[in-house]
Amino acid sequence: MTTYTVINPATEQPLTQVARSTVEDADAAIQRAARAQQRWRAVAPGDRARLLRRFADQVDAHVDELAALETAEAGHPVGAARWEAGQVRDVLMYYAAAPERLTGRQIPVPGGLDVTFREPVGVVGLIVPWNFPMPILSWGLGPALAAGCAVVAKPAELTPMTAVRIAELALDAGLPEGVFQVLPGQGSVVGQRLVDHPDVRKIAFTGSSEVGRHVMAGCARHVKRLTLELGGKSANIVFADADLQKAAATAPYAVFDNAGQDCCARSRILVEASVLETFMALLEPAVRGVLVGDPADAATEMGPLISAAHRAHVASYVPDDAPVAIRGSVPDGAGFWYPPTVLAPVSPDSPAYTEEIFGPVVTVTPFADEAAAIAMANDTPYGLSGSIWTSNVGRAIRVARAVETGNLSVNSHSSVRYWTPFGGFKQSGLGRELGPDAVDAFTEVKNVFIATD
Ligand code: NAD
Repeated sequence: MTTYTVINPATEQPLTQVARSTVEDADAAIQRAARAQQRWRAVAPGDRARLLRRFADQVDAHVDELAALETAEAGHPVGAARWEAGQVRDVLMYYAAAPERLTGRQIPVPGGLDVTFREPVGVVGLIVPWNFPMPILSWGLGPALAAGCAVVAKPAELTPMTAVRIAELALDAGLPEGVFQVLPGQGSVVGQRLVDHPDVRKIAFTGSSEVGRHVMAGCARHVKRLTLELGGKSANIVFADADLQKAAATAPYAVFDNAGQDCCARSRILVEASVLETFMALLEPAVRGVLVGDPADAATEMGPLISAAHRAHVASYVPDDAPVAIRGSVPDGAGFWYPPTVLAPVSPDSPAYTEEIFGPVVTVTPFADEAAAIAMANDTPYGLSGSIWTSNVGRAIRVARAVETGNLSVNSHSSVRYWTPFGGFKQSGLGRELGPDAVDAFTEVKNVFIATD
């Protein structure tokens, strides 16, 4: 078996060697998972719930260790990384309540009794990107295990370490062997095999729209169940009647969080033209105030980008003649740093305005009125998140209903709360994760009629 080196993006130093799994490894893991799933689905609901709670407790006992791994391999500021490890615990705990509540229906019919069951879909292939390796793993893992599925997860090549550790914690918690396995390796090899293997009954994919489309086509061959969480180009709409101080102070964190490597990044700020100048004046100190630096330092707010290649990609959106209105600073020396950057004015057909940059680059564009703001927010193939800043309740509701996107926040920038559904409109995805209904997406409804005559 070959291995590859995982790099610390803040220091460019090697961290560890990780196995590059093969198609044969994937086939063996899928076979183990299929056998384990038959036993797992037969575990009494209360016992499955107890094991998930123990799994959550194991994660809780290792939050600092998991956070340190995330900081090292993904460059996430340690405060954010602790929150991410905590989210894995919370998601497992939330879905631990599901096995005992996975009820069907009794439907009135003539001549007998009709009931429905929610059967586990089977083996689930979980394909995870590098930007939030821990939370995104847990969003599929928690509900899939609760439904009685077995999971084979493929972490991103650049960030496999936390997933590998979380799988060890699952075994320590008493989850049966084979119920949750992690296969580090290449997307085109291991990820593709999960898509192609007939015994994997569902794929939960998070990643780029380009790979997502390819995965969807692959799943079509087997009519395989599929959820997709893909890219975004979300709007942060600021009306003149908003609390401009607060809107400007928070706007940088809505896009520069995780160095902009966030599918929910509000990477297009749309500002009502009458307050554009005021907003820009307030935005400048907020952008310059973002603390970029050593992710292991608890005060750090933004770390490096994930790789040299990704930094070059981000930089390509800011050529020498780009309209840079505000620019933050980065540390000297090693590390894949890129400064928080505000572009204005940008033309509506420039790639920086239309494409997902996935880095700390945001555009600011004025709009004339409510109708124009809605039209501009919707003028994208994506529809994942967004924010609306206004003190007019009626307008907040009108705009929230009109913007074609899966997750909106009014006078805030929150997107992902594990209690509520998360996912995209249009090319940002298919299906929803999290929230009270996520387990349903890992089940098939079975209808059984029992004759009484
Ligand atoms: P990516 O599409 O390059 O990779 C995602 C995963 O797919 C990786 O594990 C990769 O190895 C695997 N993969 C690659 N080729 C494959 C193939 N042929 N078959 C199966 N799997 C394959 O994405 P990335 O660069 O890791 O992540 C960034 C992207 O993810 C951005 O576009 C971002 O918006 C998106 N994202 C979306 C959400 C969401 O919830 N909507 C969340 C996070 C990230």
